[in-house]
Amino acid sequence: MMNRKKFLQLGSMGLASINLPSFSTTIQKPIVISTWDSGMPVNAEAWKILSANGKSIDAVEAGAMYIEDSLNCCVGLGGHPDRDGIVTLDACIMDEKANCGAVGGLEQIKHPISVARKIMETTPHVMLVGQGAQQFALENGFPKEPAKLSEDATNAYKKWIEKSKYQPEINIENKKNNGPFAPPFFEDGSPNHDTMGLVAMDTNGDLSGAVTTSGMAFKIHGRVGDSPIIGAGLFVDNEIGAATSSGVGEEVIRICGTHTVVEYMRHGYSPEKACKKAVERIVNRDPKKAATLQVGFLAMNKKGEYGAYAIQKGFVFSVKSNNENKIHTSKYLI
Ligand code: ASP
Repeated sequence: MMNRKKFLQLGSMGLASINLPSFSTTIQKPIVISTWDSGMPVNAEAWKILSANGKSIDAVEAGAMYIEDSLNCCVGLGGHPDRDGIVTLDACIMDEKANCGAVGGLEQIKHPISVARKIMETTPHVMLVGQGAQQFALENGFPKEPAKLSEDATNAYKKWIEKSKYQPEINIENKKNNGPFAPPFFEDGSPNHDTMGLVAMDTNGDLSGAVTTSGMAFKIHGRVGDSPIIGAGLFVDNEIGAATSSGVGEEVIRICGTHTVVEYMRHGYSPEKACKKAVERIVNRDPKKAATLQVGFLAMNKKGEYGAYAIQKGFVFSVKSNNENKIHTSKYLI
């Protein structure tokens, strides 16, 4: 919180015209926001905990577990496989004290988000990957289960394998508006990404976030995207706000995407503007390339204000609070 003395100091430094935090005291809490329309039931699950005055860390884990259970095409054991036909899962979780845990390339474990939380709570580490992550999960009582590709994922993989063209582009949802550099990935228009990222603030005003995904469809075996990387797919700073992302992970990693969003909020930008600034960084780096891909950021600040921004049309997000329960359409740059 900026006090008067600090404000005057900034003023005397000639910085009074920068985007200072506003002084409104209305805080919207509890609240949960999540990527995509698939976030609606995820939010509902998180809401059960938030509305009972539960902790945001429990709420985001419950939301992520819900979608990991649901044989979604892009999250959990039903998700799209890599190009070798193997489903590998990425997830991370972060609480209001900057405790965090993550898994990358985890196979045959149904709830990567809970493994991430276990790493956070019981080890001195943040991230375990591949076989080591699986071994840790098994040692901690998570059962081994074979991946069972959802119907969508099976069909998409069968179709992809006919040509096996290695072009790990994230599809852009509205192909008609894509412009010349936007090759659709799936000919039938089905999505090849749908990472679940969610951020919640509980009645105590504490923020937490979680991300879970099977990552980019048909990736090289071993590829890890932004989703499990703290500061890329998820970042929480309980003094400022939190952010998550979906889209081409490599582009998000390059700019430490969600950390960047939170830093913009720290400098007084609204969640939507902060997301926009991060999107601009990606686009400005290589506009031609950016026109071929999608990245969306979603953020919330400590007042429970939220916003999103994407490179392209098509990014949507879900919000649940005492005031609303709905899907919002993100603004976009190109
Ligand atoms: N960000 C994810 C990744 O690069 C993809 C997604 O959003 O679905 O793995």
